[in-house]
Amino acid sequence: MGYFQMTKTVVKSIIHGPSTIRYPAVPGKRTPISRGHVTIDPSKCISCGMCMRKCPANAICVERQAKTWEIDRFRCHVCDCCVEVCPVHCLTMENTYTPAATVHEGRELVQVTYVKPEKPAKKEPEE
Ligand code: SF4
Ligand code: SF4
Repeated sequence: MGYFQMTKTVVKSIIHGPSTIRYPAVPGKRTPISRGHVTIDPSKCISCGMCMRKCPANAICVERQAKTWEIDRFRCHVCDCCVEVCPVHCLTMENTYTPAATVHEGRELVQVTYVKPEKPAKKEPEE
């Protein structure tokens, strides 16, 4: 029975081609519901650290003083959790094909450019 199943699979693969693809030579298939790649709009990030605290893979590091946001793409398993918890919606999950990366390219450091607006001056009480 085992040999029969195996022969069937081999013949099917010979006729239709294998089910796997030769990534990264051949880009992965994308569909409208595919998750892809976490991206940030650094002009909106308020460095609250919520994404870092909620990330189950410890893939994000937010340095409030240095105003940096860093992601380790080899740790990220694309769960979308950080995107859901960001209070200012500056994280998005891009549905794009991501080329293969080396270990050095896995970490991405982004300089946050958000500037907190100044509070309006208090009005002096009229006499
Ligand atoms: S998608 Fe998930 S694993 Fe990836 S950085 Fe966001 S919370 Fe972490
Ligand atoms: S990306 Fe969003 S959740 Fe993460 S530190 Fe910036 S504002 Fe906070």
